[in-house]
Amino acid sequence: MAGNDPFLNATKQVNDACDILGIRDKGIRQYLATPNRVARVKIPVRMDNGKMRVFIGFRSQHNNDRGPYKGGIRYFDPEGGVEYMEREVMALSSWMTWKCAVVDVPLGGGKGAIFVNPKKEKLSAGELERLTRGFAYAISEIIGPEKDIPAPDVYTTGREMTQIMDTFSKMNNNRRLLGVITGKPIPMGGSLARNVATGLGTAHCVREAARVLKIKMRGATVALQGFGNAAIFAGEYLEKQGAKIIAVSDSRGSISIPRGAKMAKIEEWKQKKGTVVGLPGSKKITTQDLLTTKCTILIPAALENQIDKKIAAKLRCRIIGEAANGPTLPDADPVIYRKKIMVVPDILANSGGVCISYLEWVQNNMGYYWTFDDVASKMEAQIVRGFRDTHALSKKHKIDMRKAAMVLAVGRVLEAFEHRGVWP
Ligand code: NAD
Repeated sequence: MAGNDPFLNATKQVNDACDILGIRDKGIRQYLATPNRVARVKIPVRMDNGKMRVFIGFRSQHNNDRGPYKGGIRYFDPEGGVEYMEREVMALSSWMTWKCAVVDVPLGGGKGAIFVNPKKEKLSAGELERLTRGFAYAISEIIGPEKDIPAPDVYTTGREMTQIMDTFSKMNNNRRLLGVITGKPIPMGGSLARNVATGLGTAHCVREAARVLKIKMRGATVALQGFGNAAIFAGEYLEKQGAKIIAVSDSRGSISIPRGAKMAKIEEWKQKKGTVVGLPGSKKITTQDLLTTKCTILIPAALENQIDKKIAAKLRCRIIGEAANGPTLPDADPVIYRKKIMVVPDILANSGGVCISYLEWVQNNMGYYWTFDDVASKMEAQIVRGFRDTHALSKKHKIDMRKAAMVLAVGRVLEAFEHRGVWP
């Protein structure tokens, strides 16, 4: 696993930020990088055929110096198996700490997972519910509205979030504990604006980047990689600011639309045909062509590891807004920086989701619910401040925005830790 250990990658990023902050103390570096706790749990489930099956689940709680742990729960079966999943969950919980700190929400970092692929294995609704409630029971002692607040992630939805909230509430004398989890459906205490949050946040970041680079949004051109939740709302909000979509892709292929197309038209086509490919007025292109389209704004919003050193050398955009997690490989960053392309890194560009999760938790704790506009404007204020703070550090230290975001986040967590001190 050594070459491909996600937790070692996460640790390296912390150490790089410490280098820039001048933190030489090995103990402090170790403190910042290491999760506070990684729980590995056994979840016995009675399957529909009457037999029992044991699943393995994890909850990694990375850091809570700034507030309760926060982060998704995924149901997945990575190729590396259960041991790899543990390292992945540890890394993801670390990135959640930095993501919350960059936008200054008072939460820490956590991540959970069950080693299962519910789609591949075709688990029934009953099996999935017993698995979800079994996991909620197994981690019930370490989660809670003031301790650790999970959320949806790969292959988990509002349905699983509601089942976890219901299990946890019933285990706690039937108290109404909506704030134990976010990403709930609206009638179960979910927040308005959650569905648009990630894409909207990405669009705010791109607008701020354009302002810094003195680029007008009206007439700016956009290439979108992916056409799911993050890409669609990023595209729609960029279009509202006057930008034009000239290339898009999904898992079936990529297209270039030389004269541009309205998001509504692309969405309608995708709805009808199941893919963006074949849109009238477009031509099919390769993934590499899509990523290297001559455009103002590139939004990778599909998969990780898309932009390597070679593609970076061929990029022809001015701004990259990373809606996806980890779309750029580390060796591509210096190439992109030299080309003076501004990257808004994933932990900032896709933090709209966690901002609204935070606001969902606040509403649950108050028992008072805001309008869509209230929630969206509070999220905008958080993310814009995150962008401006990151940009200021990037200027100060003459580093790219990715490093600057980590420096900002690590600095904030360190500050909280220094106030708290070590006990016992
Ligand atoms: P989604 O499932 O709604 O959409 C994913 C899209 O990617 C689909 O359109 C799919 O067709 C496309 N895709 C898959 N393989 C592709 C390929 N090889 N080439 C081009 N497109 C391909 O997922 P999403 O929620 O939009 O998430 C997208 C990315 O954004 C992920 O990296 C996710 O981790 C990240 N993200 C999402 C959120 C959120 O709230 N939705 C929050 C933070 C980060």
